[in-house]
Amino acid sequence: MDVLKLIKEVEQDIINWRRELHQIPEVGLDLPQTSAYVAEQLRKMGIPYREKVGVSGIVGLIEGGQPGKTIALRADMDALPIKEETGLPFASKNGNMHACGHDAHTAILLGVAKVLNENRDKLKGNVKLIFQPAEEGPGGAKPMIDEGALENPKVDAVMGLHVGNLTDNVKEGIIMVSYDSMMACLDRFRVKLIGKGCHGAYPETGIDPVAMAGYFITKLQTIVSREIGATDPAVITVGKINGGYAYNIIPDKVELEGTVRAVDQEVSEYIAKRIEDLAKGTSEVMRGKYEYEYVFGYPPLVNDEEFTKDFVESAKKVIPEEDIVIMKKPVMGGEDMAYFLREVPGTFFFVNTPKAIDGQYYPHHNSKFDIDEDLFWKGAAAMLQATIDYLERNQ
Ligand code: MN
Repeated sequence: MDVLKLIKEVEQDIINWRRELHQIPEVGLDLPQTSAYVAEQLRKMGIPYREKVGVSGIVGLIEGGQPGKTIALRADMDALPIKEETGLPFASKNGNMHACGHDAHTAILLGVAKVLNENRDKLKGNVKLIFQPAEEGPGGAKPMIDEGALENPKVDAVMGLHVGNLTDNVKEGIIMVSYDSMMACLDRFRVKLIGKGCHGAYPETGIDPVAMAGYFITKLQTIVSREIGATDPAVITVGKINGGYAYNIIPDKVELEGTVRAVDQEVSEYIAKRIEDLAKGTSEVMRGKYEYEYVFGYPPLVNDEEFTKDFVESAKKVIPEEDIVIMKKPVMGGEDMAYFLREVPGTFFFVNTPKAIDGQYYPHHNSKFDIDEDLFWKGAAAMLQATIDYLERNQ
């Protein structure tokens, strides 16, 4: 199959689908308009699908002409509660915004699906299409897996991509991928330091949780700097602190919330335990008490080395070799594609597609975020070629 030619034939469809999806952004697990739109396109293509998998996820299936393995291709469909300010002719007007490029992911997967379906007689195996909600939270991948998205037929490998304004120093249109850990976990914690309220002039009559919080935050930053190897990426951030009533009152409690990022599950488990040790130790030594909650969110995203090496070889067939960059370091953002990659081997890759609005590039989750539609074909071509090659190789 001439992948480049086939992708060029659906390039305008991909752009049109993206623009239509861009105008109906929805947030979270329940995406009635978006999933109906995707279902409608699959129906028009004649691809069978299951709806409402994990609330509003869609699982399509393209059965090849010959038996073989099953590869899943995954796109996220959800947007963000941001009021769009791009001024684009197809900008959203409903108060939500596709400010992370998931509209492009869904459109690209529709384009790849169209080509695969039209050529299904030549396929040596099956392709499962996974359209998931809630990547931005609370997470749509896990509920879809729990409801059998990776079964019937059983999925042997998985692939997904992310477009956007992904890096400052490298040129537009490049594909970036890692052979191993690529993105961090996305955990959150809450610590309540409990003292005893009293008059600010007579601290000896109470127990001061504000003083506890001061020591606690300072010590917290020594977990990464003193207890974790310098070559193991980890971040602990306290993003919220809440306590107190007035300048002359010692309150009875202070609450802190934060996030932990690490690219190794064992590191995040270690940090989870040590935050509690510090909350316990600090509060006890200062005569107080504590409460602690740690939520393990999306796990670290880890690509399969062997699958990814094959992916890179496939990508080289359709993208100039100098446009494929192997990442030397992971990024500390999280992605719930990680759940699929924890179940089956596969690859998640980035396609750098920044686009300026009024001469300036804006980051993801910004009200002026935009992406370059003329580069979508690269992600689609790499995904299509790698899918065909995988099924050819693994009969
Ligand atoms: Mn995203």
